[in-house]
Amino acid sequence: MIVEIINTGSELMLGRVLNTHQQWLCRKLADLGCPATRQVAVPDTGPDIQTAVRESLGRADVVITTGGLGPTSDDITRDLIAQLLGRKLRVDEHTLSRLQAYFDSRKRPMVESTRVQAMVPEGAIVLQNDHGTAPGLTLELKPNPYREGDRGSWLIMLPGPPRELRPMFAERVVPMLRGLIPSGECIVCRTLRTTGMPESLLEERVAGPLQECVRSGLTLGYCARPGQVDVRLVGQGPEADRLVNTADKILRELLKESVYGVDDEDLEHGLVSALAQRKQTLAVAESCTGGLIAHRITNVPGASAVLLAGLVTYSNAAKERFLGVTPEALAAHGAVSEAVAREMAEGARRETGADYALSVTGIAGPGGGTPAKPVGTVFIGLAGPFPTIIVRNLNAFDRETFKQMTAQQALDLLRRKLA
Ligand code: ATP
Ligand code: MG
Repeated sequence: MIVEIINTGSELMLGRVLNTHQQWLCRKLADLGCPATRQVAVPDTGPDIQTAVRESLGRADVVITTGGLGPTSDDITRDLIAQLLGRKLRVDEHTLSRLQAYFDSRKRPMVESTRVQAMVPEGAIVLQNDHGTAPGLTLELKPNPYREGDRGSWLIMLPGPPRELRPMFAERVVPMLRGLIPSGECIVCRTLRTTGMPESLLEERVAGPLQECVRSGLTLGYCARPGQVDVRLVGQGPEADRLVNTADKILRELLKESVYGVDDEDLEHGLVSALAQRKQTLAVAESCTGGLIAHRITNVPGASAVLLAGLVTYSNAAKERFLGVTPEALAAHGAVSEAVAREMAEGARRETGADYALSVTGIAGPGGGTPAKPVGTVFIGLAGPFPTIIVRNLNAFDRETFKQMTAQQALDLLRRKLA
């Protein structure tokens, strides 16, 4: 099935808004087994929307547009598409009464311009918007004047705001697309998420053993990010499920505990749920990551059951005062040292009463490096009901990547210990 996405909005072309619909929709479509075949972004001025829709209708079974369904003068997607297809707009009474109810419940008058959101091209099906005012629209074009042969196409128009588009797509468009995908064409996608092994090493280890699966039609992809590599498995056709499951098994046997999750699972979710299950708690003492580890943990709903405290002890004085790091250790070894990482982790555990405490201290750069401790040097500590563990790594990157790498390594250290 050929699926194309057209993201509309001049703000996208001006770099004012990040086109998150592109990634989100592509991801959902891939998960569904019908990856997008093409995606374009166009400004919502001039003839671009019509040109893009016409071109896509010439190729695709499904064309998805985003944005421009609202009430303001720059919301022109609906009008332009109706004009392109030669369809009149009519008032959809159900949508109009929903709009009226929406404003009544908020005790706000309904401005005249708002009514355009209830205008629907002839033949279109309305996708109710449970999180805003502008409904989505779908239109079946059969015959499709822009496509050779007698193959029809579907046009799906979605509102711009992500909090409206996402539930509408998940609840109303996905079931519809499931019905449109020809059986046997379905694609199965799975991403195994790994950490602790560089991309090239990982590929070297798995490529040979997976050769048989690849010969049978499995597509393999690698995506490296700071401190992690995702391995994407894509199977197609009637054997898709079996192929992906076989490859999944081979990968897990080879990579063992380097695999920490599947698809959207991330380290911190796994960690919080592992600790919550054990009814255990964590504290973090951060220097060079500036709170990033605590930030990631607190992104997880339910983190309060697990995280007791996150201390960003950036200065030596703060390390001494809040964690009990000794002036002797600081003087003899410096703040970036095994001894200080150890005292930070043990101090955080002692001061908070947590079962585990992580610490990080390092040189993010670009200044501050020495031959013995070059920029990127970091010590990561883990204190718990066992002898404190200290790991020394060299994360020689820009500051932001350094922080991401270090946070990932710290979280991973605890994950592996709990596994
Ligand atoms: P509204 O009723 O809010 O006007 P709309 O359907 O007309 O909705 P737009 O006006 O195109 O949609 O976009 C509304 C807002 O949605 C934009 O200001 C932007 O913040 C967000 N948005 C639009 N397109 C995208 C996109 N591709 N990626 C991320 N956010 C987007
Ligand atoms: Mg708008």
